[in-house]
Amino acid sequence: MNNLTIEDLLNLVRAYEATKINIVEQAYKFADFLHAGQTRQSGEPYIIHPLNVACTLAEMHADIDTICAGLLHDTLEDTKVTKEEIVEKFNRDVATLVDGVTKISKINFSTRADEEFANTRKIITSITTDVRIIIIKLADRLHNMRTLQYKKKEKQQENALETLEIFVPLAHYIGAHRIKTELEDLSLQYLRPDAYKSIEEKRSLIEEKNTEYLFNMRNTINNILNENSIENWIKICIKNIYGIYKDLENGYNLSSIHDLLALKIAVANTENCYRSLGLIHSKYHPVNELFKDYICNPKNNMYQSLHTTVFGEVNKLIQLQIRNYDMDRVASFGLATYWYINGCHAREVMQKNLTEKCQFFKTLSEINSVFANNQDFVNQIKSELFSNRIYVYSTGGIAIELPKNSTPIDFAYKLSTNNGNHLAAAIVNDKYVPLNYPLRDNDRVEIQCNDLSSPTSEWLDVVQTTKAKRLIKEYLKEMKSYS
Ligand code: MN
Repeated sequence: MNNLTIEDLLNLVRAYEATKINIVEQAYKFADFLHAGQTRQSGEPYIIHPLNVACTLAEMHADIDTICAGLLHDTLEDTKVTKEEIVEKFNRDVATLVDGVTKISKINFSTRADEEFANTRKIITSITTDVRIIIIKLADRLHNMRTLQYKKKEKQQENALETLEIFVPLAHYIGAHRIKTELEDLSLQYLRPDAYKSIEEKRSLIEEKNTEYLFNMRNTINNILNENSIENWIKICIKNIYGIYKDLENGYNLSSIHDLLALKIAVANTENCYRSLGLIHSKYHPVNELFKDYICNPKNNMYQSLHTTVFGEVNKLIQLQIRNYDMDRVASFGLATYWYINGCHAREVMQKNLTEKCQFFKTLSEINSVFANNQDFVNQIKSELFSNRIYVYSTGGIAIELPKNSTPIDFAYKLSTNNGNHLAAAIVNDKYVPLNYPLRDNDRVEIQCNDLSSPTSEWLDVVQTTKAKRLIKEYLKEMKSYS
C-alpha cells in the first residue's frame, strides 16, 4: 500500500464508523500541520508514516480514539505539541495513547544493558494498562519494517531482530495474524536474506504448480456448498515464508508440511461450519490426526476455526480452514476487530474483557508480580510466553495451553492450586508417567490427587510456568513455618 492519501483512510473508516470521519480528518490535518516540513529517510513528507499507521489500524476496525492516536503517534516526540493540547483538541484517551506510544518508542530492545531490560518490561506491561498502545505500536512497527530499506545496515539488523523477538509474539497474542506474518517475513528478509530468497523462489514454484489444481478444488467445494444452500467464499492460501523457514529448520521438508497449501472457507454462521465440514469430508478424505476444532476450543488469542487436512485431488495434502465471517475477521486482525464485532469500545470494558478472556494477560500479570529483577522478568516472558506453546487435553477434552516442556505439575497448577498441592500421579495418553514428564502437543492428561501428597523442592527444578513456581514456593514456605 504505497502512496496512500487521507481519502483512503477516510474510506476505510467510513466502512465501519461513518459518523466519526470528521474527527479522523481533523486529526489528520492537525498531524499534517505539526509535522509540516519534516521528511522521512525515504525523502517523503513525514505525514505519510502516521497515515500508513492509521490505515493499518482502520483495516483492523480499531476505535476512533485509536485511529486519531495513530495519526498523532509521533507528534509528542517530534513536534512542539503538548499532551494537554491533545487533550483539549481531542480527549484524554487519545492523549494518553499517544503518550504511551511515545514512552515506549525510544526503547532499544537489542542492547542488553540493565536499563534496557527495565524498558522492555515497560513496553510489555503497558499491555495490561491499555492494550491499544501495543496495537498502535505494532502498526507503527509494521510501516517502519516495510520501509526499512532506507535505514543503515546495522539498524536494519537490529530492528529486524527486535521485531522477531518482541513484536511478532505480541502480534500473535493480540491475534493480529496478518501483521504477525508480514512482520515475520520482513524480519527474515533482513536477517537471513539468502534463506529468504531461496524459500521465496521455491514457494512461488509451488504456487505456480498448484494453481490450477487448487482452483479446481476450490470450485468443487464452492459448488458442493452452493448446492446445499450454504453461502460461502473460499480463498487459496500458501504458508508465509518465515513459517516455511521455521518448518524446514525443524526438520520438515517441503512436501511434508501439512499446512503449506490451504483453502480458507468462510460461511455465514457456526452451524454451517460443521455442515460444510461434513459435506467436504464426504468428498475429500481427512487425515484423522490433523483435525482440530478451534471453534469449541479457541486458541488463547481468540482464534476460532475448524482445521482439517484432507487428501486433495491428486492425493496431495491440503489444509482446510472453515470458520464464520466474524471468526475470519478476528483471525486476520485480532483484538481490535473482536471488540468491534462485540460492540465494546469503552476502554474499561475492553480491558476487563481481555483480562477475563485472555490467558496471556493473566500469565503476564503473574510474571510481573513474581519477578522483581528486570532481566529475570524479560527472560521469563521469553521462555514462558514468547516461546513455543503446546496444547494438551484435560479430561472432558478441554484444551489447555502451556509453554513447551511443561510437566504434569504445571498442568495440575494450571487447573487449580489444590490440584497442584495434592498431585500424586499423572496419566498421559492412558499410561502412567513421572511427574517431571515433558508434555507434548495433543497429549491427553489426567491427574490423580491425594490428600497425603504434597509438593517437594525438586518440583521447582522442573516446572516451566510462573504460576506453578510461585504456588510451590508458597506451599513450601508455609510448611517450614509449621515445623
Ligand atoms: Mn512512528
